[in-house]
Amino acid sequence: MPLPERVDAVFCDVGGPVYTDDNFTAAVLLALDEIRVEQGGPPVDRAQFSRLYDEMRAAQSGGFRRTLARELLGDESLRGELHERTAAHWRHPAGTAYDDALALFRALHGHVVVGVLANQEAATVDALRRDGFGDVLDVWGISALVGHEKPSRELFEWALAEAGTTAEHAVHIGNRLDTDVRPARALGLGTVWVTRGEAPAHPTPEQVAEADVTVPDLTTLAPVLLARTGGSRAG
Ligand SMILES: [Mg+2]
Repeated sequence: MPLPERVDAVFCDVGGPVYTDDNFTAAVLLALDEIRVEQGGPPVDRAQFSRLYDEMRAAQSGGFRRTLARELLGDESLRGELHERTAAHWRHPAGTAYDDALALFRALHGHVVVGVLANQEAATVDALRRDGFGDVLDVWGISALVGHEKPSRELFEWALAEAGTTAEHAVHIGNRLDTDVRPARALGLGTVWVTRGEAPAHPTPEQVAEADVTVPDLTTLAPVLLARTGGSRAG
């Protein structure tokens, strides 16, 4: 499917496209170690974690925390506990944003509504402002603030309403098929899959075919998206 002919709004995931997913990985490892030590066990074997992480990236389905709770804590029902502990450690330190994200949003700002649409904690807003994103973002679709998480349709619908447009004139950029590309596509948004971070190291042709556009990074997207805007907007 091609991208929409007319694009009014561009939404972007945060973990992967904007900040390195290493920030999440570091937090989840700290959380796993805490719980395992409390269980009387050793910290997580890093090589085992690495293998599991690569398998989860390749699969692009099923929650990462659920799988980690099952495989590394021995109990899938500890997913909620793992989620809370991870949130407490999850930071986006200065210097961990990708330069191409700010460059893309700057290029788009004023031509389309630009927003983040992400499963993130509230503190991510402070990190984004610190790193220069405050002036180029019109819509702040952060799950902890909005009260809905991807892949549920509510977060996408909230962002569309905030942007004052409809799905057929919007594009969502993300690095996961299960929480970005598939739910966005199901609602009728155009989709861009950025294959870094939690995306597979080697996407299959079938996976690549799920998105309208698949790119390794954000460097080539500005002209593609600007060609679909209806001219300059106020603001
Ligand atoms: Mg992501």
